[in-house]
Amino acid sequence: MTTDVGAVPRVRGGADAGYPELSLLVAGRWTGRGDRDVRPVVDPATGAVLAELPVATAADLDEAATAAAQAFPRWRDTPAHDRYGILRRAAELLRERADQIGRVTTLEQGKPVAEATQEVHGAADILDWFAEEGRRVYGRIVPSRRPGLRNLVLRQPVGPVAAFTPWNFPITIPARKIGAALATGCTMVIKPAEETPATGLALARALVDAGLPPGVLSVVFGDPATVSTHLIRSPAIRKVTFTGSTAVGRQIAALAAEGVKRVTLELGGHAPVLVFDDADLDRAATLAAAAKFRNAGQICIAPTRFFVQERVFEDFTARLAARIERLRMGSGLDPETTLGPLAHDRRLPAIEALVSDAVDRGAEVVTGGAPGDGEGYFWQPTLLAGVDRSARAMSEEPFGPVALTVPFTDLDEGLRRANELPYGLASYAFTSSRDTAYAVSESIEAGMLAVNHCMLTAPETPFGGVKESGYGSEGGSEGIEDYLFAKLVSEA
Ligand code: NAD
Repeated sequence: MTTDVGAVPRVRGGADAGYPELSLLVAGRWTGRGDRDVRPVVDPATGAVLAELPVATAADLDEAATAAAQAFPRWRDTPAHDRYGILRRAAELLRERADQIGRVTTLEQGKPVAEATQEVHGAADILDWFAEEGRRVYGRIVPSRRPGLRNLVLRQPVGPVAAFTPWNFPITIPARKIGAALATGCTMVIKPAEETPATGLALARALVDAGLPPGVLSVVFGDPATVSTHLIRSPAIRKVTFTGSTAVGRQIAALAAEGVKRVTLELGGHAPVLVFDDADLDRAATLAAAAKFRNAGQICIAPTRFFVQERVFEDFTARLAARIERLRMGSGLDPETTLGPLAHDRRLPAIEALVSDAVDRGAEVVTGGAPGDGEGYFWQPTLLAGVDRSARAMSEEPFGPVALTVPFTDLDEGLRRANELPYGLASYAFTSSRDTAYAVSESIEAGMLAVNHCMLTAPETPFGGVKESGYGSEGGSEGIEDYLFAKLVSEA
């Protein structure tokens, strides 16, 4: 059965929600339900079922992996300039369709529609950037120790890739992985999150409409563990890339190790923010509140553990609370909304447990601290002050609209607290001292640091973590490297 994703609205959850019919994309065919199992896709703002998602069979997965392997030699040998053309056309199609795709993202993920539409434009920028960078994959000539011998270093694509992406940025994260893979000549089978399938399919649709040959990209869904185990063990797959929790990342890395397959892992974080007493507190509170509560805090680089120097602790906490109280919680489809629901029902009890544990251990609820009203998965924007080190929220990523403030005395203590977790993804510092900024940038154990602002993501800059936040990079020219290997050709 063939379906046209985006063309046939099939609405279950609301009067005229405009949510598309869902399918798989396997070996160049849009494949609908047929006799496959289905999973419901739910609108997190209402709890209503939007559509049924077909689940890939083992035969679908094998067909997708085989298609990726068969398409690989031709795609690898396609001139980088032609691959560039397809990616650039796909980026333009995303821009033309941004309003429509953004609305679909809001329906299935919950984030405010302005954020969702902006995310689609951001994904187009990512495809553009990787398209360009793919044309600059240069080799080297290494001078030989012997006369008459020439050493060439070719940089070649690693081969078919299996990719697994989460629901929090349902187009940004697939675009990073697909953009880098396709630009370098790799092929891919991707499993976007089952919570947000239509957005990932819309990205694939743009690439297919831009002229991507069949089999270069397949899109599958199913039980995450079943699909990832099947694909990672497939002999067709040469590389694995995953974004999600550290716990799942460990399983993925172990599976990939069985076949000695290359892995990129972008895992959890629990970003520290060091607010020094010489900082511009207004600026710090405004920027940090915006970064913290974007996407309802469901961001791996969300600023979360605010370590605030003692002298300004009360002042900063009050300023942060004032900004948080200005947020407007509601359906992401309402243009006035600045804080949508959590993306799925699993997150509500998880956040409730972290907040009540912190309060039991002496934290003050400055604002929020409870679920929202109504049927959707809403949690009030929350600020907890004076959170004890023993509270679970200080070591477990809340991945929701919860900020924590804790006082510290001096630079050494601040750095020690910031570095004390096994995570090392994003970090932030606010100070007017160049010496302090220098000291933090040298000693912070994180893959990314923003000083006096909170914008860490751009297509052209590396994005990745250290420690248990993963390895490899998803942006910048570093992001391209993860899809290439160096081949020595020594010619006499
Ligand atoms: P989860 O660990 O069950 O799932 C996280 C993501 O991984 C989901 O997209 C899921 O489909 C996928 N997944 C789960 N098991 C998998 C498997 N065996 N193989 C392949 N993919 C698999 O958690 P959740 O309840 O969906 O999200 C909560 C936690 O996940 C958060 O606390 C956060 O740590 C993490 N998370 C991180 C990111 C990120 O951007 N790094 C994004 C989403 C979730």
